[in-house]
Amino acid sequence: STFQDLGLNDDLLQAITDMGFKNPSDVQAQAIPILLQEERDLVALAQTGTGKTAAFGFPMLQKIDIESRTTQGLILSPTRELCLQIANELNLYGKYCKGLNVVAIYGGASITDQAKSVKKGAQIIVATPGRMKDMISRNMVDISKIEYSVLDEADEMLNMGFYEDITDILSHTPKDKSTWLFSATMPKEVATIAKKFMHSPIEITV
Ligand code: AMP
Repeated sequence: STFQDLGLNDDLLQAITDMGFKNPSDVQAQAIPILLQEERDLVALAQTGTGKTAAFGFPMLQKIDIESRTTQGLILSPTRELCLQIANELNLYGKYCKGLNVVAIYGGASITDQAKSVKKGAQIIVATPGRMKDMISRNMVDISKIEYSVLDEADEMLNMGFYEDITDILSHTPKDKSTWLFSATMPKEVATIAKKFMHSPIEITV
């Protein structure tokens, strides 16, 4: 299939051309049509390097309202490096989405600076669970209007002991949002999270 076939808009297709991507990867070909067409939860078994960032990033960029400054997308990821990498990729994919503001939130950097960035109006936040929970408890961020949430490298986040933080964060988001979970492996803890927070997810494996 081609990226056009998947239903992506011209702003994204232009960015994809600029980046030199020729064809969708397996996880992209499977996930993107589902996430664009249906308000469905998704569990994707996918390793890093498979193009999973774009698999959730393209649909999120296409579905959010860029004219609004409300935070509509929340991506949780295990480490600072991954958060920065994801935010970076989203900015590249969204380079023609005028007004897009993606903010990365992670520990080991100034929380007040991050709060200021959020206050300017971020449609998408990419965060590590610990810092995210901290900012919620200090009322520095409003995630009550989240429509799309991603749990990236879910197995890794749970390995790192983020279960409590993740459940706390998700309890501050609307129940009727969509949740897209990506994980390299499916240990019991990941299945538990999926069962607890997701509504009959579609499952794909790459
Ligand atoms: P990820 O698995 O999301 O970390 O992506 C791995 C790398 O593949 C990143 O550097 C992406 O920029 C690149 N990439 C993602 N999708 C494609 C694609 N369809 N064609 C070529 N490269 C891609």
